Parts: sequence; C-alpha cells; structure tokens
Amino acid sequence: MVALPILFGLAIGSFLNVVIARLPEGRSIWRPRSACPGCGTGIAWYDNIPILSFAVLRGRCRACGMAISRRYPIVEAATSFLFALAYLVLGATPEFLVAAVLLAALVAITAIDLAHQIIPDVITLPGIVLGVVVNLATGRVTWIESLAGIAVGGGIFLVIILASGGGMGGGDMKLGAMLGAFLGWRLGLLAILLGVLAGGAVALVLLLLGRKGRKEAIPFGPFLALGGAISFLWGDTLLGWYLGHLVP
Ligand SMILES: [Zn+2]
Repeated sequence: MVALPILFGLAIGSFLNVVIARLPEGRSIWRPRSACPGCGTGIAWYDNIPILSFAVLRGRCRACGMAISRRYPIVEAATSFLFALAYLVLGATPEFLVAAVLLAALVAITAIDLAHQIIPDVITLPGIVLGVVVNLATGRVTWIESLAGIAVGGGIFLVIILASGGGMGGGDMKLGAMLGAFLGWRLGLLAILLGVLAGGAVALVLLLLGRKGRKEAIPFGPFLALGGAISFLWGDTLLGWYLGHLVP
C-alpha cells in the first residue's frame, strides 16, 4: 500500500520542481509547458518522468546536452520519501492529506530558500489561512490552539527581528506563523525549537570546518521546515516522552 503515497509523492515532487523554478522569477506555474532553459526545446512526457528520466538522460537535456540541476531528482525523491513516512505514521486518514499539503509546502520553501534566500509570501500567507481551515475541518487542533500558534510562531520571530535588527527575515516570521497555524502553539513551538537546534548544529559544523564565516548568513527556512515536518509527524510522541521524563 505504501507504493501509492510513493507514486503520489513523485508526482507532487515533479510539480514542486516547476513551482521552485518559476515562483521566484514571477512566472506562471501553469503555462507554458516545461522547456530546457538552454535550448528552449519542449520537454516530452517520457523525458519528464520523476527520477527515472534524469537517470536515463544522465542529467542532461536530450536536445542540447545542457546539465539539468540535481535539484530536480532530489526534490522528487525527498517529497516521495516524506509522503511515504507520513503514510506510515498516519495511515490512510484525512490527516495524511493535511500532512501532504504541509510537507509539499515545506519542500518548496526549503528549495527556494536555499536557492534564493527568500521564503515566498505566496506560499506562507495562504498557508497560514489553510492551516486554520484544515484544523477546523479535521479537528486535529482546536481553532483556539491554531490561532495561538500563529501568534506564538510569528511572535517569536518578531521579537528576534526587533531585538537583533537583522539576521532573521520576515519570511521566517511568516513561516513560523504558518507552522503554528497547522500545528497549534505547542507543536509549533517544538518545531521552532527543533529548527534552532538543527540550524545551530549545522552552523557550528560549517564554522568549525571553515566553510562559512561567522558573519555569513545561513538560511533558516530549511531548518524551520525540517522542525515543522518532524513536529507534525512525531511531535506528540516527542512531547509526551519529554514531559514524561522531566515532569514527575
Ligand atoms: Zn536543451
């Protein structure tokens, strides 16, 4: 049965590649059909099969031989992997569909932030509204918890932005609010905490390896997205474990 979410994830990942490539450039996601940026040749359906086509073409355009970004198969594989995980954790439930929407948004945000150091409002602002709506529909999180999540998730970053005068951007703040809307304030906080821990660990390693200077910014969106994904799938378990060990 897990084959279905894997295939679903590959198809959505393929769509996300279009979003990731076009959204930051302000181009339409729906038209025109995908074409090679090098030679403009339209990409045939058999050269547009997730992961497989990249492997068959050895990462090059069939017409002109220009290298295709490895981001394409990576996004497809990551989306597929995350959908499979979500299915294994949640099963065939309405919550799986919520997870699919959230995880797809987080994959797109991660890839766009890594490439352009921006987190697009066109994803996060509708995402905030959608988070409240899906919680109203599924009852996973109460609407009060969801609204409190927006206030807490966005508020933390607002405080950081005001206190630090830079470093964090408004995009991080809106992503924090979006995660709060989907997760509620408790798991939203956990997502941010996990993001800070993961981001701090990676920044430390890069600093020690001399790969990044102290002043160079590392985009925080991907870590926040990772924290959000973990918190959505395993947050209740993590919180239960944590509270069970620390609160007598
Ligand atoms: Zn080409």
